[in-house]
Amino acid sequence: MSILIQNVQHEKQVVDVFIDGNTISRIGSDEGISADTIIDGNNKAILPTFHNAHHHAAMAYMRSYADDVELFTWLDEHIWPLEATVSEEDVYHGTKLACLEMIKSGTTFFNDMYWYFHGTARAVEEMGMRAALGAVFIDMGDAGRRATNREMAQALLEESKQYSDRISFQLGPHAIYTVSTEALTWCAEFAGEHQLMIHTHLSETKREVDDCLKEHGMRPVEFLDSLGLLAPNLTAAHCIWIERDEMELMAERGVKALHCPTSNMKLCSGKFRFRDAQAAGLQVAIGTDGAASNNNLDMSEEIKMAALLEKHFTGDPTALPAPTVWHAGTRSAAQMFNLNSGFIAEGALADCMLVDLNNERLAPGHNLIADMVYSADSSCVDTVICDGKILMQNRHVEGEEEIIAKGREFKAKFRR
Ligand SMILES: [Zn+2]
Repeated sequence: MSILIQNVQHEKQVVDVFIDGNTISRIGSDEGISADTIIDGNNKAILPTFHNAHHHAAMAYMRSYADDVELFTWLDEHIWPLEATVSEEDVYHGTKLACLEMIKSGTTFFNDMYWYFHGTARAVEEMGMRAALGAVFIDMGDAGRRATNREMAQALLEESKQYSDRISFQLGPHAIYTVSTEALTWCAEFAGEHQLMIHTHLSETKREVDDCLKEHGMRPVEFLDSLGLLAPNLTAAHCIWIERDEMELMAERGVKALHCPTSNMKLCSGKFRFRDAQAAGLQVAIGTDGAASNNNLDMSEEIKMAALLEKHFTGDPTALPAPTVWHAGTRSAAQMFNLNSGFIAEGALADCMLVDLNNERLAPGHNLIADMVYSADSSCVDTVICDGKILMQNRHVEGEEEIIAKGREFKAKFRR
C-alpha cells in the first residue's frame, strides 16, 4: 500500500510526499513514482498529527454528564457511580466516539487509562489509531481488589499481544489516593520486569498533597520515589502541586509530565507551571484528559489553552511561544513512547495530516504553526493518515454516522 501526496506545502515549499507502507519514504518530486492512492495536495499543508498525552477515551460517553462541580464531588457523586454500571461494550462504543473526534481534529495517538482494556483496544484497532492502553489499578487499600488488579494486569500482558503494534500495553495505577502502597510497589516491579510504561495521576490537587503528608510524611513525588516509581517509564498527569525541587527530582529520574490545561481549569485543580517545569529539565507533553472534564478532545484547542494559560499566569506574553507548545502537542508524547512520529521527515512513521489552507482560519497564512496554535480548529483538518492508512479524507471518516448514532444511545442509557 502506497500513497502519493502531490503538490503539498511542507515547510514553505511545495513538494510531493511518497508514503510506502507505514513510512514517509520520500519528500521531493514525484517524477516516475507510481502509487496505489494519489492525493491532491494543492492548497494543503502537511503537518505531523497531534499526540494526546493524557486521556480516558471511553469517557466520551459521559460528555456533559456532570459539570461545574468540585473534583472530589465530581468523582465521588457523579463519575464513579456511573462508571460502576458500564460494560466492555459501552467502553468500546465510547472509545470509538472519542477516536472519531480525535481523528477529525488531527490526533492519531493517545495515552489512555480506562477499564475494559479489550473494549478500548478493539475500538483503537478498528479506527486505525495508535494508543498506549493500560491495566488500571484502583484497589482502595482492599487486598481482594488488589489481587484482582494484579491478576488482570498479568493476563492482559499476554492478551494484549493479539493486537497490532499500534497498541502498546502499560500499567495504569490511577493515583496515590486510590492505589495502595503495596499495589504501587508491585506496579514498579512488574513494569521493570516486563519493560512497561506506567501511567498515573500525580499531585493533581492540594488535598492529595496534604493527605500524603499526613499519611506518609512525604509529598507525593517523594512518596513515589520511595517506592521506586520515579523512573523514565513513568508518565504523570497534571503535576500541579509540585515544588521546584520535586520538578528537579522528577527530571533527574526521567519522569515525564502530562499537562491538561482545560481539565485543570475546569475542575479548578490548580496551575501546572510549564515554564518552571521546562527550566527544571522536565519533559512535558499535552493531553485533553477525558471528555467528562474537558469536554472536547480537540488538541488544537488544548495547545492554545496551554499557551494562553502560561502567558496569563506568568504575566509574560513571551512565555510558551507557538513552536514550543506545538512541539508539546505533537512530538513530545511521541518521544515519550518511543514513536518515530510527531514530525514530517523521510523515514518517519506516516502519521500526518493535511490542513486546508483555504480555510478562513488559516488565511492569510503568515505563519502556519502560529495559525495552528492560536487560530485553527478541527475544521482546518482535511485529511488524516496513521500508519500509512487514510483515516479521514475530505473531512469524512468511514462509519462516522453510525458511531455518532451509537454514541447518542448513551443519553437514554445513562438518563438521570
Ligand atoms: Zn485523568
